[in-house]
Amino acid sequence: MSTDLAPPALADLLASAKSIQPRLVDLRRRIHAEPELGLDNPQTRAKILAELEDLDLDIQLHEKSSGIVATLKGARPGRRLLLRGDTDALPMPEETGLEFSSKIDGRMHACGHDAHTSMLAGAARVLSEQRDSIAGEIVFMFQPGEEAYGGADTMLAEGMPEIDGAFAIHVAPQIPVGKIGTKPGSFMASYDDFEIRVVGRGGHASMPHDCIDPVPIACEIVLALQSFVTREIPATDPGVLTVTQVHAGTTNNVIPDSVQITGTMRALSDRTRALMLEGLQRIAAGIAATHRAEALIDITPGYPVVVNDAEFESFTRNVITDLLGPAAVLPLPTPVMGAEDFSYVLQRTKGAMVMLGVRPPETKRPAPCHSSKMMLDEDAMALGVALHAAVATQFLAESPS
Ligand SMILES: [Zn+2]
Ligand SMILES: [Zn+2]
Repeated sequence: MSTDLAPPALADLLASAKSIQPRLVDLRRRIHAEPELGLDNPQTRAKILAELEDLDLDIQLHEKSSGIVATLKGARPGRRLLLRGDTDALPMPEETGLEFSSKIDGRMHACGHDAHTSMLAGAARVLSEQRDSIAGEIVFMFQPGEEAYGGADTMLAEGMPEIDGAFAIHVAPQIPVGKIGTKPGSFMASYDDFEIRVVGRGGHASMPHDCIDPVPIACEIVLALQSFVTREIPATDPGVLTVTQVHAGTTNNVIPDSVQITGTMRALSDRTRALMLEGLQRIAAGIAATHRAEALIDITPGYPVVVNDAEFESFTRNVITDLLGPAAVLPLPTPVMGAEDFSYVLQRTKGAMVMLGVRPPETKRPAPCHSSKMMLDEDAMALGVALHAAVATQFLAESPS
């Protein structure tokens, strides 16, 4: 049974989002100029709260992070949809030359989370205007610590309302403004970091027989890991294993006691992620043991795979088509190998993430996310706001009661 409230017209949501464009730009630039890292984003939180102040929302402030959970209650009861925006920046210098560039050395909003935050606050404003035609609740999740701090997991562990669906937008500097990249199933990769310490027995370089030289053992492990990925991981469900550092030794005539190997793994399914975690440990330990050495393995678990629910993703495509026209839908042929902790939210409920085109006009080779020169076309933000609002109102309007 559907509710007897007619959802707001999508054209109205789009017009309303465009009418607050100056607000979106202002908030985004203020957040951009003062980037914060990790789970503690107090200045950003203060800016968000000030922006939401005149709206009638239930606000819950988290304590283990600067997370904010703001809930908009519609005129009638119904389902609950979560919209998410992340708030943190990256520890890197900014080289855009923009007038509102980072005022803090070594920090930059290079992943567009400043825009994500501004768009989510804008969606709260646009949707608040539509309260009378909304049945159900919309939960706005302002989440710090996306960049390797697992902020979504921290917020879920601290306590979030039960939800029936979830939606998030990430900006994509490679995609033109007006296009929304979408894909069902695996959308972004998982990641796990590893460190292997190959422990042998050091000594004189001229008498290796009196030692257990960890250097050739470490080399063997590095190469065997490459063979492992190509021979044991299915080509149809791929994984990536990259060794990024090998450290050992001090001089020419000393065999070191140990070698340090570090790297990262990516996968596009839970199955391949598990295969890679198992294989890395088996191969490193096995090769070390064969040569009478030991491999001490330390895995730092990263984020799970971002999986877009097929039905929710198809619903999202329809909303994009109705809101912006069929040409706005950009089906992505492959997943993105980067990782995103929205995956933790999608482990709790069905939902989807999309890529919002923000390519600056007349840019032939736009700098990607995580580049010190990354820029975005702020006009795209109104489209993001309208998309958040349209997904929310359409999802709640289709609610079974
Ligand atoms: Zn990022
Ligand atoms: Zn990001």
